[in-house]
Amino acid sequence: MLFGYNGKILRVDLNAETVANETIPEETYRKYIGGRGLAARILYDELPKNLDPLDGKNEVIFMTGPYTGVSAPASARFEVATLSSQTGLFGAANAGGFFGPMLKRAGFDGVVIRGKAKSPLYLWVSEDKGELRDAQHLWGEDTYKTEDLIREELQNERIRVACIGPAGENLVNFAAIMCDRGRAAARSGAGAVLGSKNFKGIACFGKKQIPIAHKAKFKEVATRYNKKVLKDPLFQFLRLYGTPGTLVIETIFGELPVKNWMKSNFDGAEKITGHGMYKTILVKDHACLGCTISCKRSVRIDKGKYKLPENPTSGPELETLCALGTLCMNDNIYAIAKANDLCNRFGMDTISTGSTIAFAMECYEKGLISKADLGGIDLKWGDADAIIACVNLIAKKEGIGKLLAQGTTKASKNIKGSENFVVAVKGLEVAMHEPRANQMLGLHYATTPYGGRHSSAVESIFSGISSVPAPDLDFVAKPTIHTLDRLSPLGKPRPLITIQDRNMMMDSSCMCTWFIAYGVLISHRYLSALLTLITGWKMSYREIFLKTGERISNLIQAFNIKHGATMEDYTLPHRLLKEPLKEGGSHGHVVYLKSMLREYFKLRNWDFETAKPNKEKLVELGLEKVANDLWP
Ligand code: SF4
Repeated sequence: MLFGYNGKILRVDLNAETVANETIPEETYRKYIGGRGLAARILYDELPKNLDPLDGKNEVIFMTGPYTGVSAPASARFEVATLSSQTGLFGAANAGGFFGPMLKRAGFDGVVIRGKAKSPLYLWVSEDKGELRDAQHLWGEDTYKTEDLIREELQNERIRVACIGPAGENLVNFAAIMCDRGRAAARSGAGAVLGSKNFKGIACFGKKQIPIAHKAKFKEVATRYNKKVLKDPLFQFLRLYGTPGTLVIETIFGELPVKNWMKSNFDGAEKITGHGMYKTILVKDHACLGCTISCKRSVRIDKGKYKLPENPTSGPELETLCALGTLCMNDNIYAIAKANDLCNRFGMDTISTGSTIAFAMECYEKGLISKADLGGIDLKWGDADAIIACVNLIAKKEGIGKLLAQGTTKASKNIKGSENFVVAVKGLEVAMHEPRANQMLGLHYATTPYGGRHSSAVESIFSGISSVPAPDLDFVAKPTIHTLDRLSPLGKPRPLITIQDRNMMMDSSCMCTWFIAYGVLISHRYLSALLTLITGWKMSYREIFLKTGERISNLIQAFNIKHGATMEDYTLPHRLLKEPLKEGGSHGHVVYLKSMLREYFKLRNWDFETAKPNKEKLVELGLEKVANDLWP
């Protein structure tokens, strides 16, 4: 018997308008776990070379993992993977909330969407079956209204929905998939890919219990963790101030991205920290299903020009506060919350949205675009109303929004002289953590397969800035990552590889990575023990977190090679490599990438000329077919 899984996924063919169940063998789960790993295997096998991400042959995969919905802290996540509209390479995003656990309770571990519907459709999943339904009446509706309309139509208040909003329908390059009123599978443009398929989203409901191999013991361990989470001061901090609480830490170390990455000090930062929110718009913390960490924010603005349409509602996270705040020199917490709400409803990644607006602000300041180009908007640094106007135009692809909806890399090709204002990797705007303040993070941005994402190696953000020892990393790096010099390139590649492979496992089993990032006292060894209790598999920490993680990392690297990645993709933008920070806790530094990159590739056994994983490594990891594809 298979524990921790349903053992099957749904296959949706939008061309033929068919839905079919597919059984996944236990061996495949064991090798790729679920979430990102299993999605990567399917995408590698099924997507042809030279594919346009918006071609019907592209697939969007929703995938849960064995940890999804098991009633433990940080267990509510699901993954989305596709050929990214932003990078043309492997695209991944994940979200918490309630949708992932409900999909599993409806009887499926995942859904693969392929083809292009003639007119808008959505998928209804319950009681071990899926059904395509007309979505013409939902097309044009925002993500919140879509949830309401589907619940009304199917007459069930407990249905969970993951869907796109108008931004995805309009093919905004960084459109997100949203669920549960404000939870976002935001990065990589999966919302645009769904929009290109005329597919609005998935609704699901179920009551199935997922079998757990050692239920009593699992419950005991999960209860122990819940108690630990409730007592741990770091988790208490997170519950009180949320991810915005860490904005203060970024400020101290010069990790704050300010004025399109030209600065790292911002006088208004205090107004938009977790504490600033606490004093103004915060109503309470709230949580994804069953999570005692409860890091999410509920906010209220019920009057004034930034009044929110629904109160309380999901508030901005750290990334959003920086992207729509510090990066644009905007210290108006009310306006940021409003812009965040618009992005959630339109279904847009707030990181890429804010980054693109900051890029446009710099273009405007330096005379590369005019007020007339902007349709009369005076896009000055810090102008909250101009930011909100741009959010609306981007989502609707109106006026300047048509150009900005392409994201910074593509928009810059149409704005002569703006190349050096782009801060993106592989076409994906860099997340809101300054790599010139942290060399390991710089190396991570350059090597991560998805472009400028931070959350796939979240511990690297904290490397060298915490006095708390990191469990488990001491066997690969002495001293531990937290005593490494964050400003030196020395000694970074080896621990980073371990962190990346472990995060690959977190994203494949669908554990929320914040569990590890903030709870630095919680060891991955305990987490691997939890997985063995769920699945019943006797796998060591090394096998689960390192070998399997390494296998998936190499598979995704091979996917990217298949889809055209070259060594030129393993770099950072001009600003991060050539323009030293002029102030703050990391004054004078750039990312010293060259030496770190060579060592990283050597340790990975990846070819420094072609970026291909070497054949022996692929065979050692059980990826023989991939080895033959790359090295015929
Ligand atoms: S830590 Fe936060 S984001 Fe992660 S599952 Fe818990 S409440 Fe959700």
